[in-house]
Amino acid sequence: MPRASDFVNDASDNGAMTANACGPWTTTDPRGEANYEAALRRYPGQAIVDLAAMRDNMRHLVDVVGGPRSSTAVMGVVKADAYGHGLIPSALAALAGGATWLGTAQSHEALALRKAGIGPDRCHVLTWVYNGARAPFDELIEHDIDISLGSMDGIEAVAAAARSLGRPARVHIKVDTGFGRNGFTEQAFDAALARLVPLAKEGVLHIVGQWSHLAVADAPNVPAFVTSTDRQIDHFQDFTRRMERAGIAPEIRHLANTAATLTRPQIHFELTRPGIALYGYEADRAMGEPADFALTPAMTLQAQLATVKDVEAGHGISYGRTYLTDEPTSTAIVPLGYADGIHRSASGFDEVGARHTDKEGGPVRVMTRQGPRVLHVSGRVCMDQFILDLHGHAADMGVAEGDTVELFGPGRGERYGEPTADDWAKTAETISYEIFTCLRNRIPRLYRHAAEVLPASDLAKLDPATLL
Ligand SMILES: *Cc1c(COP(=O)(O)O)cnc(C)c1O
Repeated sequence: MPRASDFVNDASDNGAMTANACGPWTTTDPRGEANYEAALRRYPGQAIVDLAAMRDNMRHLVDVVGGPRSSTAVMGVVKADAYGHGLIPSALAALAGGATWLGTAQSHEALALRKAGIGPDRCHVLTWVYNGARAPFDELIEHDIDISLGSMDGIEAVAAAARSLGRPARVHIKVDTGFGRNGFTEQAFDAALARLVPLAKEGVLHIVGQWSHLAVADAPNVPAFVTSTDRQIDHFQDFTRRMERAGIAPEIRHLANTAATLTRPQIHFELTRPGIALYGYEADRAMGEPADFALTPAMTLQAQLATVKDVEAGHGISYGRTYLTDEPTSTAIVPLGYADGIHRSASGFDEVGARHTDKEGGPVRVMTRQGPRVLHVSGRVCMDQFILDLHGHAADMGVAEGDTVELFGPGRGERYGEPTADDWAKTAETISYEIFTCLRNRIPRLYRHAAEVLPASDLAKLDPATLL
């Protein structure tokens, strides 16, 4: 076992350590430190993903539904490149934590899981978004991937693919209980049953599941929303009864996303489908903090400062002069911008700037000689960079080019001065989901604790250059 070592970003040759608001990152992989240095050379921002946090979040979710022996299984939802965390590493961490299902929206990601060697002996995989006229249903069936069916065209296309392969398709019937997105409505369901029943009898379709999605489960404190979720649950059960009466009772029912997994034990059924909780966040900041739900954010987004300089009072910062310095100060450039997925709506304005409004920009943890400080995006977020007003002199603060700053981290809390993706979501008027999924892949992803979390055969599925 290689010796664990802590390391920080020490980019300078003259021996003067640069300040660091993140980590220190521990590595057990002998190449970890070299991988880290290589990532910093390649790009001035990195997403550090903690696979142990992800495994532990999944373990917790499995406990929430009654533990590994309960009759409820857990699906790790890894759509959209695992909410930007990296599809394969995240999927493997979810399995290490006890997930027995993986879910992706798009079919190419479901296929990527199988092609990475995550076989049907390890877990079921469900996929649910496709263009029924062109989807690779044959490939999905051949790779033992479960397919959602929520339209008549989908039924015909999947049945045709299964017939020509001579192999039944495993399908989950999607019903629209009030979300208004995919699935058969109550009115359309008789027609659907009329097609499904003979195809099931013929053995072309194996009807595995019945499922639906909730619209407002993330607002357990809003009575009107609780009522509408209750109504969705009633509808869901009506659909089950109709399937039973038609002779195609679902083996597995699933309805609960993260919010319902955490707050609605009565609808865990045989499977729950948490996504955002795997990555360490509750579904909506109105529900509370990740720690309230025993979750740990898995991703830290950090960057190394570019130009740090002194400017006069009244200096316009960035496009549109929406922010003017109110006193002599220093500014620092964070070399990530909207082309990296930093939302332009997280820009910061001040009263004297051209917008004449005070709006706090996205928060950044900066290490100063006086301790950590949370500073905010000042002025417009640009394509590849944004600017921080340090509200002080860089030389006094000990802030310099090359320092590592943290945009969001594992949620050590406000007292620690650590922003979260929820904080960015608030200033950008969005949700943490979008903060993560917008992060472009030009930002290197680096994985912590991979060797500790994953068996050797899984570790071998990861790019060794991404391991810390
Ligand atoms: C994304 C998604 C989920 C997971 O939702 P979270 O709020 O991230 O838990 C579950 N089911 C479906 C159909 C989804 O699209």
